[in-house]
Amino acid sequence: MAKILIVLFPDPVGGYPPNYARTGLPEITAYPNGDTLPTPKALGFTPGTLLGCVSGNLGLKDWLEAEGHTVVVTSDKNGPDSVFERELPDADIVISQPFWPAYLTADLIEKAKKLKLVVTAGIGSDHTDLNAANAKGITVAEVTYSNSIGVAEHTVMQVLVLVRDFVAQHRLSVAGAWNIADAVTRSYDLEGMRVGVFAAGRIGRAVMERLAPFDVKLSYTDRFRLPGEYEEKLGLEYKESIHELVKDIDVLCVHAPLTDETRGLLNDELLGTMKRGAYIVNPARGAIADRDAIVRALDSGQLAGYAGDVWEPQPAPADHPWRSMVHNAMTPHTSGATLSGQARYAAGTREILESWFEGTEIRPEYVITQGGRYSGTGAHSYADEPENDGKNS
Ligand code: NDP
Repeated sequence: MAKILIVLFPDPVGGYPPNYARTGLPEITAYPNGDTLPTPKALGFTPGTLLGCVSGNLGLKDWLEAEGHTVVVTSDKNGPDSVFERELPDADIVISQPFWPAYLTADLIEKAKKLKLVVTAGIGSDHTDLNAANAKGITVAEVTYSNSIGVAEHTVMQVLVLVRDFVAQHRLSVAGAWNIADAVTRSYDLEGMRVGVFAAGRIGRAVMERLAPFDVKLSYTDRFRLPGEYEEKLGLEYKESIHELVKDIDVLCVHAPLTDETRGLLNDELLGTMKRGAYIVNPARGAIADRDAIVRALDSGQLAGYAGDVWEPQPAPADHPWRSMVHNAMTPHTSGATLSGQARYAAGTREILESWFEGTEIRPEYVITQGGRYSGTGAHSYADEPENDGKNS
C-alpha cells in the first residue's frame, strides 16, 4: 500500500461551494490532435465541481483510501515545518498542480527516500527538479492537453483586454463614471495588428487558430517549423528566433515551457528591441520574464501592457510588483484551472494512478520522466536536444 501526498490550493474563503453557476459541462470527445480525453475506469467526482482545492481532493481521496492507501491532502506546502515537507520523507507518490505547485527541489527529492511517482495534475512539470527525478529513477507524469484550450482562450481574452484597455474602462463603470474620453485614450482595435507567438505547441497553435479570424498578421517562432499547409491556412510567417520575432510585432504571446533556455528571456535587452507600445501576454511561466525588466518597460512606455497568469514564485507574495504595476491585466494562475479544466486533469490524474497501481503503461503522452530518463512527451519537451518527431505536423 502506498502513501500519497496531495498538495492542493486552499478551499474558497467562504467555504466549499454548495452549488454552482451552471449545471454540468459541455461534452468534448477528443482533443484537437485526435487524442482521447482521459479514460479512467471510474470517476470519484461530479464534473463541473471544484476539484483542485483541499475539499475537492481531485476526487481521489475516497477511492484511494478504499483501496487501502494512506492519503494526506494539504495546501500547506512551503518551508520545513509545512505539512508537505513533514510528510514527504515517507511518501511514495506526490501530486500537485502548477497553480499551487509543491516545489520538489533536488534537496527535497534527496530527502524523499520512498518517492517513486510525481504527478502534475495539469501541464508543466518545471516545479519538479526533473534531472534530480531522473537521477533517482522517479517517474514524473502530467495530464497533457487537459487544459491547453482553456489557456488559449484566456490568452485571447487577455490580448483583447490589453489592446482595448478593458480593465480601466470597467473600473470607471463600477465607479459610476461616464468619462468616455478617459476611457478610450489607450483603447485600440486588434484588427490589423501584428501578433507574434513564441512557441507553437498545443497552446501556441490554439492561440493562433483563435486569433486568425480577428484579421491580425500572425508570426511565430519555435524550435521546429510547422508544416507549410498549416502556415498557409493561417497566414503565418515563421521567424528564426525570438529576437527576430519581437522586432516588429504589436503583441507577443508566450507559450514556451520554462527551461534553462527560456528562463529570463524577456529581459531589458529583448524588450528594448520591441516596438514602443507593444503588449505581452504570458500564460506560460512567470520566470520566462525578468520581473523587474517588465515593470521598467511598462513605466517607460516601451510596453503598453502586460498580462498573463503565471508568477514566480507561486503563490505570488502580496507585494509582488506585477500586482500593482501600471497597465497590467494579470490574473492569479487560473487560465488552466477552470472547472472544465479541473474535470479533465482530475480524470487524467486518476487514469495515471490506475495505470501505476495496475502496473500497466502510463500513456506516453503523459510521461515526462521514466526509468531514469526523459521519456514520452518529456523526451520532446524537456530533453536538451529534442528530435523533430513530427509532433507539430
Ligand atoms: P507543448 O509542449 O505542446 O508546446 C511547447 C512548445 O514550446 C513546443 O512547440 C516546443 O517546441 C516549444 N519550445 C520549447 N522550447 C523552446 C525554445 N527554447 N524556443 C522555441 N520554442 C520552444 O506545451 P503546451 O503548449 O501544452 O504548453 C506550453 C507551456 O504552457 C507549458 O510548458 C506550461 O509551462 C504552460 N502552461 C500554462 C498553463 C496555465 O494554466 N497558465 C496550463 C498549461 C500549460 P517543439 O515541440 O517544436 O520542439
